[in-house]
Amino acid sequence: MDGGDAVKRPPGPLTVAARAGTPPPEPGGAPLVEPPSLASVDTFVDLADLDVAMAAGRGGYRRFGNPSVSRLEEALAALEGYGLPEPPLCRVTSSGQAALLLAISTLAGPGRRRVVLLRPGYGGSESLIAGPLAALGVEPVMVDLPPPGEVDRQLDQVRKVITHDVACVVAETIGNPLMGLLDLPGLVELCRAAGTATVIDNTFATPFLLRPLELGADVVVESLSKQLSGHADVLGGAVAVRAGHPAADLLATHSRFLGAVMAPFDAFLSLRGLRTAGVRVERGAASAAALAQLAIAHPAVAAVHYPGSRSLAEEALAAALLPRGRGSMLALDLGGRDRADLLLRGLPEIRLAPSLGDVATTVSHPALSSHRGLSPAQRRSLGIGDGLLRFSVGIEEIEDLAAELRTALDSVAGTMGSASK
Ligand code: PLP
Repeated sequence: MDGGDAVKRPPGPLTVAARAGTPPPEPGGAPLVEPPSLASVDTFVDLADLDVAMAAGRGGYRRFGNPSVSRLEEALAALEGYGLPEPPLCRVTSSGQAALLLAISTLAGPGRRRVVLLRPGYGGSESLIAGPLAALGVEPVMVDLPPPGEVDRQLDQVRKVITHDVACVVAETIGNPLMGLLDLPGLVELCRAAGTATVIDNTFATPFLLRPLELGADVVVESLSKQLSGHADVLGGAVAVRAGHPAADLLATHSRFLGAVMAPFDAFLSLRGLRTAGVRVERGAASAAALAQLAIAHPAVAAVHYPGSRSLAEEALAAALLPRGRGSMLALDLGGRDRADLLLRGLPEIRLAPSLGDVATTVSHPALSSHRGLSPAQRRSLGIGDGLLRFSVGIEEIEDLAAELRTALDSVAGTMGSASK
């Protein structure tokens, strides 16, 4: 394009991320990267000086704010609020679990004790809501979604449980572990009409592929322990609340009072990871799509769980909501624990790890890890079988990943007495 004709457009999300947290240059030179600020407390010259800091809400104590943490929160607010007129308020926490706790604390209260959770989703979210939060007076309402292909029926049950005393509906954009894609526009419309807040866990999609606030959600939570930090060396979480929402007023104070904050060095590492996350997420998504195709065509696989793969309606929703990629996650059902075990033994380089989001591909067994807290009957009814393996696809060369998976699937098919393709 001719330089003079170039249309002025705001920098895209990957650009925003790549440039996040870099201080402006100073005469004589300044570091390109801000070093981590590790001190937990400031000192003051006298009482007047202390008084000014306390009145400004800084307090001199780093649970109340820290430069490394603030840089990360600014970067995440810019990403989650990309495309919105005003950035959301963002707070980062010690884990994704703490992020969900913080988010719900800003919404639940005496007249709004019910918290609706759509399942299947991360097992820990259910444990939090049905465990410690229920003990504190929250009333959990679990809603089982229909099988992922039946997107048109997704909101039928949700509609029935939304009453004036529901604090929020908690749901995942791409559900763990079956990759069910949420009808987010439909859920937002339903909850808005009922005056109920939406808390959307966007961990599997990330703000590079889907931004729930842009689609009208009130609160988004992310686990930063996964793709966004990306190197399996951080535990963290984030909450972003749409500007102007009543929960935004409570977010900062609740994070302090609950102690749901992030350690400075983890914030430094998270921001470092976030700057490359868009590239990793897009590459992982392209490779996951290729592996899903491979698995769909393979006789050893009983079912492939990948956004859009189960019905035309789901495919249409995925095309509309995830045009930049469908995430780096897929799950394969081998039909039984023995076959899952056999597949794992055929994957020498893809490590068995009960998490996700590392630069290298890993695989987990939801029934034994993330969804262990559910009863076998609950798992069965949600479709989380003992033969289910969940893959988190990294940035390796796709040829290497495909060759490893194909060889392992062939060896499983060999034991089934059927020829592999
Ligand atoms: N949300 C989802 C979708 C997850 O998969 C997880 C953890 O696996 C969490 C939240 C919790 O995050 P964290 O492990 O950082 O507490």
